[in-house]
Amino acid sequence: MKLFIDIGGTHLRSELQMPSGVISDSVSSQEHDLISFIEKKLELYPFITFIGISYAGQIYKGEILSAPNIALKEPKIKEYFESRYDLRLEIDNDLNCAAMAEADYFKSDSLLALYVGTGIGSAFIDEGRLIRGSKNMAFEIGHIPYKQTSLRCGCGKTNCLELYASASGLQKWMEHLKMPILSFSELENSKNKQKRGIALDFKEALLFATATLITLTNPKIIVFGGGVIEHNPQIVEYLKENIEGQAFSGSLCGLNFYISSLENGAMSGAKLLEENIYE
Ligand SMILES: [Zn+2]
Repeated sequence: MKLFIDIGGTHLRSELQMPSGVISDSVSSQEHDLISFIEKKLELYPFITFIGISYAGQIYKGEILSAPNIALKEPKIKEYFESRYDLRLEIDNDLNCAAMAEADYFKSDSLLALYVGTGIGSAFIDEGRLIRGSKNMAFEIGHIPYKQTSLRCGCGKTNCLELYASASGLQKWMEHLKMPILSFSELENSKNKQKRGIALDFKEALLFATATLITLTNPKIIVFGGGVIEHNPQIVEYLKENIEGQAFSGSLCGLNFYISSLENGAMSGAKLLEENIYE
């Protein structure tokens, strides 16, 4: 039996693979702690031999270094479970997982994944290798300095791009301006100028992130995913229409834009962790 988990700032999703089929589960990641969630699964299904986790945070060698959008109980999660149970556990950053799954889907060796959900994240595969950085934190696009605000990011800073181009950022702006909480499309189509302004700030920040990443990485494919993109594919049309003049023109030559076709790229990537292709 194998257990696969995708945990972000909003959902904790799991898939238990058994000889008789798959059991899927989805709970709130704000109300459920990851360690207790896995322990309960192991109590019910003691024959789990592999756990693959896609995690919306900074991961290095089986340890959670930080998690701006998730409450954290036990950072050394790999050691915690492998020392207590007869199983193997692999965990990686959610965008790394998503990029692995997208590269697998597109059969591409040069791909940039940019996902917008609760947070915003990116990962880059070049010549078939995932570019990780020394502590597996490369391409943390959400936390690059963008504009100074009176809001605070989950990472502690007040100027992160994620404060503009993410679902959590949109929510922070609506709360700050004492507005009712609306969806992105409700903001975008509102008659109210201030509400439309939040959506426009979001799109401009995402365009900046997209242009910056394309200029830095020069991929063959850029693929957009995550809940906000899934529900608002028009955002990618906006990016395509406005990318010229933003990204370095040479990097745009031959570049293909896609919206993810995967139901859950991060979860698909969690399933690839067992093979260690992108070690
Ligand atoms: Zn931040």
